[in-house]
Amino acid sequence: MPGRLLSSLARVAPSSSKIDSLHAQDPPLFPPHYSREPPSNPQSRSQESLVMDKLKRHSLGSRHHSDKKSPKVEPQKAATMNMQVESPPIVFYNAPQASSGALFSGQLKFDVKEPHLTMDTFEMRMLAVVTTKKPVAPHCPECASHTTEIHKWDILKGSVSLRHGVHSFPFSHLIPGHLPATSHGAIASLDYYLSAVAISSTGEKFTYKRNIDIKRAIFPGNEKHSIRIFPPTNLTAAVTLPPVIHPIGDFPLEMRLSGIVTNKSDSQTRWRLRKLNWRIEETQKSVSPACPKHSQKVGGEGKGVLHEDVHVIGSEEVKSGWKTDFEAGNIDVEFRAACNMALKPTCDMESPNGMESKHNLVIEMVVAEEWAPLRKLSQATPTGAARVLRTQFHLVVTERAGLGISWDEEQPPMYEDVPASPPTYVADIVDYNMDQLDTEVADMAL
Ligand SMILES: [Zn+2]
Repeated sequence: MPGRLLSSLARVAPSSSKIDSLHAQDPPLFPPHYSREPPSNPQSRSQESLVMDKLKRHSLGSRHHSDKKSPKVEPQKAATMNMQVESPPIVFYNAPQASSGALFSGQLKFDVKEPHLTMDTFEMRMLAVVTTKKPVAPHCPECASHTTEIHKWDILKGSVSLRHGVHSFPFSHLIPGHLPATSHGAIASLDYYLSAVAISSTGEKFTYKRNIDIKRAIFPGNEKHSIRIFPPTNLTAAVTLPPVIHPIGDFPLEMRLSGIVTNKSDSQTRWRLRKLNWRIEETQKSVSPACPKHSQKVGGEGKGVLHEDVHVIGSEEVKSGWKTDFEAGNIDVEFRAACNMALKPTCDMESPNGMESKHNLVIEMVVAEEWAPLRKLSQATPTGAARVLRTQFHLVVTERAGLGISWDEEQPPMYEDVPASPPTYVADIVDYNMDQLDTEVADMAL
């Protein structure tokens, strides 16, 4: 029943879903864009097919009544629904606060098998469904899954009689670019659906549901240059990283380790790179809200439990390839890193409901100390001292933009009131260039 759907949405909205409240505050981006064209020619199907449909329906129905042992054979419905999506795959370009969204359009096909069918309601909704793997109350479906209505189309208003044949209802919507992209993480998932429900005057219900995948592609900007220091040593690492990386494919990384040599009056101590490892850590967060029935478990309505999961989505030891120059006092290294697809990396995302996915590149080096007299630098001896240098960098994992062009740059405006600027988005601004400044140096003995 659509009533039940609505009531469950209404229950969810005030307590937990910030998506919904954000959506509600935003002025509509466009007036509901729905062109109600006259149903496509219902005469296009021959009288013969009408008769065939009637016969089929009748025979299936009677078989159902006469043979109770095969309840799986349902009588044919008075109408069926299908959909033809006309817009390209949905990709939001750039970060949520800078994205102009994506146009989504298609035709909802309603195939009436009867000579006439009177419809009382015919609606379609775009829904965001967040499913947590750690519900507040185990086995409670209401705690595990929360639905938010993103958009609603009134396909038909009031009671409308439809003739036999296929009726096409075009629909379109500019999906706002601040919405988080579809994400399937280790502790929570976000999926979007289209759900159409039509109810005839006799109470027969027709439904259609379809998953829609929303992706985000952040355009690469300039390379990122970061410097890390490792007190108490004089060592400094200058690292060049790509501005964004992708779940599939590797990326280059350049690093210069400086300050490896310390000269005294008659001797020199210097660091030699012994070991180099990298790993990409994915941090997923999700807030599990409680359903009204279980809200006392988390201390009241509107509260939830924050879950965090940190796991490695790619790692390797760089075995060789660095160049040591003791005269200049530098070690230069270039290597390629990548996410491991088998470890199911997710793209960066952040949802107002607390769900997010972020990434860090962790570089770990082991350096060993050597001592040499200035007169015989070639005769260096390991002192036995060694250190572990550990540092991390924020990485943005996003889909490839490819040849993607956002809808507002692609074509002249099709609507009367295209906003002059991208839709505004009031929220905490995520600084995608902000690097974690923590480095770590640990003593170790070789
Ligand atoms: Zn519950």
